[in-house]
Amino acid sequence: MAECLLEDCNLNTYEHEDKCILHCEKHEYSQDFHKIGFLNSFYRELMYLIASLLESNEVGTKEHILEYLEDETASNTTTTINFNNIRIMIVLNEIYFPQSKDIDSFEYTRLLRKLERIYFNYCKFSISYLDLHNTECFFHDCKFQNALLLYNFYILENESNVLFQKCEFNDGVVSFGDGRKMTIDNSLFCDCSFNKLTFEDTTFKQPIFKNSKGFTGEIKEFSMSNSIVEDRFILNYHAVESLSLVDTIFHEKVELKKARNIVDCSISNCNFKGLVDCYTSNFDNLFIYKSIFEEYVGFEYCRFGTSYEKCENCSTKFEYVTFLNFINMRNTNFISGLDFSSANLKEYPNFLGAKINPLNTNKETFRIIKHSFDKIGNTSEANRYFSCEMNKEMSETLFLRSPAKKTMLFLNRLLSNFGQWYFLPLMWLLILIPFHEWVVSSHSFDNLDTLNHIVKNILPVKHFLNKDMEFISLLFYIAYSGLIYHFIISVKRITKR
Ligand SMILES: [Zn+2]
Repeated sequence: MAECLLEDCNLNTYEHEDKCILHCEKHEYSQDFHKIGFLNSFYRELMYLIASLLESNEVGTKEHILEYLEDETASNTTTTINFNNIRIMIVLNEIYFPQSKDIDSFEYTRLLRKLERIYFNYCKFSISYLDLHNTECFFHDCKFQNALLLYNFYILENESNVLFQKCEFNDGVVSFGDGRKMTIDNSLFCDCSFNKLTFEDTTFKQPIFKNSKGFTGEIKEFSMSNSIVEDRFILNYHAVESLSLVDTIFHEKVELKKARNIVDCSISNCNFKGLVDCYTSNFDNLFIYKSIFEEYVGFEYCRFGTSYEKCENCSTKFEYVTFLNFINMRNTNFISGLDFSSANLKEYPNFLGAKINPLNTNKETFRIIKHSFDKIGNTSEANRYFSCEMNKEMSETLFLRSPAKKTMLFLNRLLSNFGQWYFLPLMWLLILIPFHEWVVSSHSFDNLDTLNHIVKNILPVKHFLNKDMEFISLLFYIAYSGLIYHFIISVKRITKR
């Protein structure tokens, strides 16, 4: 018989496989179960491997150890073999663990449960629930083919002090409380890759992620609900397709810095007690609803949204969100607009250098931003947002309902874009002057005698009105005054209010 392909493994290959029973590929439970003797062989070979590893640690003779491993009632506190209070660590290398069921006589986790400390190195798991409640574990470079259910694992001390390091989860990682919240005392992941993370009714005592600096991970779906995170929550440099946080309390700092892309992010009924920093992150869609941020919130240099067009529900939305501290949106680009209208603010937000697409942004949002600049004395920026606010006011005002207001807003925009573009009134003046000349020189105003007679009695302007064309002069007088007024206002708004 040929030897297992794996270096350092002296076992024979299993039937037609090129590896031994411990290292060969495993499949779904039904498939492995129906291969006669397959799961049983795995169980026996694992037992012999553990026995020889224990024997090399001088805890007893091989016979005693095998007897201990096979005795279903024995535990490492009741056994006759001499553990001698030495906390023996067993390293299991590259083993492919199949799925198993508690009722099977070859259920192998009962062998693992008899060990105090296990270091799983480059192992693969088809199993969804590893019931090793009293064993300290560490998973290094392991792969999990199916969804893994978490519980409060004891952790084997390691450099990063996490449970999983550089592991790959091809399906999901799930945790949920059973009627009450489940507590997880240790840090879980360092530099792992995920498909789906689902945490419900769980209290995390330590940081969930402890990634090394600059690690760029990807997560397809990450949802957390009705949970408590008592330590830092740091997920930098990640790409996440869907991030959902519901009814969750974060007691410490939350960092989502340099997120390469978060496609859908929705946060509802959450409480952030520490600071939140999302520096230079990209969000395609962000919706935050009824949440409270108690400390500083930073969205500096972020990019929100993808669509430059008018679209429904695509703006970045902070609905009934309360900020109890400073919020920083400096140099942030709201490509698809922003809805800040129902946010509750204790401090004035900083929107310096922010770009906001007005198409999907409402008047109240611009008013809040304008007000924030007013309060810090940045009048030129305040004026810019005043113009945005007025433009929105105009588009939201219906002519039939308020014709006078609509007309004034329209004229204001036409003449100077609400005091923002000084060259607009200048341009109108340059058009008006030759037009005035043309009207005066090529028309007779004899038929306006009555009107001329009336207006020439208007005392403040009577000296400026041309003889026999007082009425037309008055109209031009009003137009010139209006344009000069808009020009002065526009220049003043750029320099000083
Ligand atoms: Zn092997």
